[in-house]
Amino acid sequence: MAISIHPAVDGGVKKGSASFAGGTLKCKCGAVTVSVGAQTAHNHVCGCTKCWKPAGSVFSQIAVVARDKVKVTAGQDKLKIVDSNAAIQRYACTGCGVHMYGRIENKGHPFYGLDFVHTELSSESGWSAPEFAAFVSSIIESGFDPAQMGQVRARLKELGLEPYDSLSPPLMDAISTHVAKSKGVLKA
Ligand SMILES: [Zn+2]
Ligand SMILES: [Zn+2]
Repeated sequence: MAISIHPAVDGGVKKGSASFAGGTLKCKCGAVTVSVGAQTAHNHVCGCTKCWKPAGSVFSQIAVVARDKVKVTAGQDKLKIVDSNAAIQRYACTGCGVHMYGRIENKGHPFYGLDFVHTELSSESGWSAPEFAAFVSSIIESGFDPAQMGQVRARLKELGLEPYDSLSPPLMDAISTHVAKSKGVLKA
């Protein structure tokens, strides 16, 4: 049996739709809904210990969208920031623990202006497809058996999700470009 990565990709990665323009995310207890008014970008599976994962899943699946496209449409009072000291402030439902969106408030952060969302919380199909796997080695920090990492990376490649132990090269380059410009090493 193939090693399980995440329920949304275990049966094969579903293609996104170019005409898709957003949808509604709903938490597991149904108290919180969030409207996302645009297609997402940079969708990927993530092995870090901070992202919300569905029960039994080794990876999370997460994408970004412009923060002005994200609106809480029900249950605002149920939302609480998981860790206000983290760069990404993840708003979780206090009823079921699901993270509804992650927001960056530091205007100097390379990803400022983008919110992080889990499109699997929507019943609509057409969301941008996951493109790669980030922070793969970090699944060990959640208790995953280090001896099985070869199988995990092989399965990710088989699914077309290139495994990286940080973010993908284009995103790492974007971060370094932002840092270089803010230091004046590169022209803004
Ligand atoms: Zn909930
Ligand atoms: Zn993560």
